[in-house]
Amino acid sequence: MSKIKDYFIQDNDPEDDYQILHQEAANVNIRLYLNNSDYRRIIYHVITYMEIILKRFPELSGISAPTIGFPFKIIGIKEIKGIKEEVKFLFNPVITNKSNIKNRVQSNCASVKDKADVQRFDWITIEFHNTKGQKQQWPDIRGKTSNVLQHEIHHIEGIVITDLDTTKGK
Ligand SMILES: [Zn+2]
Repeated sequence: MSKIKDYFIQDNDPEDDYQILHQEAANVNIRLYLNNSDYRRIIYHVITYMEIILKRFPELSGISAPTIGFPFKIIGIKEIKGIKEEVKFLFNPVITNKSNIKNRVQSNCASVKDKADVQRFDWITIEFHNTKGQKQQWPDIRGKTSNVLQHEIHHIEGIVITDLDTTKGK
């Protein structure tokens, strides 16, 4: 049986090159993605691997490429479609609008040992490219999906939950 630790970079683990968790990831280059099949194949491999991990561990709601060792701005999130669970992939997501209200939530992370109390926007709107390379708006995201996306967007910016912990004066 594989463990979740066998897939995720562990923050502050001297055996891991965990600096990847504290650096801004690189954009997926959409021009190359659309025009260069060799580049696209590499990105496909990364998202296939991300999907395997998400499906293997039911406790995961989302995943970002840097946390499994690939410094790209790629996020995968589980979505319920009817009775089926699907994984949606987002390239280069950015928050373009957000609520004034923030909620305090407890967050955990497959790359961090301890839980943390963090502030999350009540709702967000994001912009990203889909796996066809098309620019998309995703407005008014709320609830668990919003919290998961904020967590993963922080990862691609090099921020982990311990950087945000409100109980540690942040
Ligand atoms: Zn995380």
